[in-house]
Amino acid sequence: MKEGKIRFNIIFVSDEIPSDIRIEELKEWSERFQRNGLTPEIEGNYTGNLSFRSEEGFVITASGLKSKENLGDDCFVYVESYDEQSNTVYVGGKRHPSSEAVMHFLIYKAREEVNAIFHGHNEVIIANAEKFKLPVTEREHEPGSRELANEVLRALGDNNLIVIKNHGFISLGKTMNEAGKQALATLRK
Ligand SMILES: [Zn+2]
Repeated sequence: MKEGKIRFNIIFVSDEIPSDIRIEELKEWSERFQRNGLTPEIEGNYTGNLSFRSEEGFVITASGLKSKENLGDDCFVYVESYDEQSNTVYVGGKRHPSSEAVMHFLIYKAREEVNAIFHGHNEVIIANAEKFKLPVTEREHEPGSRELANEVLRALGDNNLIVIKNHGFISLGKTMNEAGKQALATLRK
């Protein structure tokens, strides 16, 4: 599933790179996801996006990263808030946030106990959704769209791991460890 198209307005409230110490952990998980084929390269871009809850908002991987290995601090963006009416994301950092930032925002809003959201793409997980007893979204929508975010919220309910039909998966956790290990575990089933 090709990604990268940003379908929201962006306002930078700060050009400072987020300084949260947990970014180191997010870098490690980004690398592990890539090494395990959970954020495969599609047409020159390494897809997928990972975030953790921070302060009032969350820290997420930047849009259009060429690789998710050896990420610098500037490859992470703080998303402070999202205004649904004007479709505007308020951010801090040097780069644009992932094109799925609104989906992450809406999930954090709906699920207060969730502190980490990892979105990736993997054919094995998609193909084995039924076997793994994972909920699957019903309708397909463009990556980065509000329609897709709403579809994901509908399928999500109280689940922590769901498949996005013909697209990928979302893994949620109270911690990054939980979200990451849960996704990796499905590869070993
Ligand atoms: Zn995706």
